[in-house]
Amino acid sequence: MSLQTIQSKFESVFDLVSIIPTKTYVDAAKSLNKGLPDLDYETLVVLAYAYPKRTIASSKTHLVPSFYTFGEDYHRAMKKRIKAICDDLGYKTSYGVDNHPLDERLMASLSGIGFLGKNQLIISQTYGSYIFLAYVLIDHPYEDLHQVTIDNHCGTCRQCIDACPTNALSELGYDMEKCMSFYNQEKIPLSTKQMKDNYALFGCDICQLVCPKNLGKGKIVHQAFELNGNEKVAIEDIFNLTKKAFNQKYHYPAYMWKGKTLLMRNAAMMMYQQKNADYLDLLEASLEQFDMPWYQKTLNTVINALKK
Ligand code: SF4
Ligand code: SF4
Repeated sequence: MSLQTIQSKFESVFDLVSIIPTKTYVDAAKSLNKGLPDLDYETLVVLAYAYPKRTIASSKTHLVPSFYTFGEDYHRAMKKRIKAICDDLGYKTSYGVDNHPLDERLMASLSGIGFLGKNQLIISQTYGSYIFLAYVLIDHPYEDLHQVTIDNHCGTCRQCIDACPTNALSELGYDMEKCMSFYNQEKIPLSTKQMKDNYALFGCDICQLVCPKNLGKGKIVHQAFELNGNEKVAIEDIFNLTKKAFNQKYHYPAYMWKGKTLLMRNAAMMMYQQKNADYLDLLEASLEQFDMPWYQKTLNTVINALKK
């Protein structure tokens, strides 16, 4: 199949498509000492799928995750579209969306999809940072593929650095442990400072909301990412519904990939921040059911603070 045909097939579904030799990525990953699984495929397709910007505030009864999780789970939405194309190519392929050992951001910057901003997100010319990334490896070589360099960067801007409430960003890089979007997705006990800073049920949008490269972007709404009712999450549902019932009611959302107990811990964290003692009975009852140390420790801190 010609390179042009492959490019067209992916472009018919995805917003940005760039094809480079896999070796370009392998060489760059090795020079950065990144772990590399066996990449026995000659060609690498890097994909971006745009998602819209939609901000919704949490309340004392309903909590809201980062807006990239609104609508269908992007892992599922992208994988099924990639699979449909790969099944038709006639070559051995391998692909991934987000949760895999390869570095999608490195792939995206090497392929010209966008540049790595100081907020650690890939920023594209057309869609800003409101894009999901994915890759497809194809076991077939093509001539004339090469790295794509784009002439765009943050320059002297530091708006995300100044806006980050936890000082996770700096001119020198990124301190992952300080980032809300990292620690509210980790099964770890949380400090009172971490809980005070955190404002979202899952993830954090601040450093892309302030980015001037995103001005006027985030308007495209693919059908997969239309609002479907999974945006405002009732606190009672987080604690009272089984995982299965929750998934059915909220349409198998992307924020469930770490499990419902993590969502319960995050709901408790938000109640701490809101000084919201309306659900103390649910918090206390959950302690009887879930004995993981990271959960118990955080919940006890929240319960004790709310009882004062
Ligand atoms: S996601 Fe939030 S906490 Fe993390 S770097 Fe961006 S603004 Fe800071
Ligand atoms: S806010 Fe400024 S410094 Fe941060 S990623 Fe956007 S352009 Fe770069």
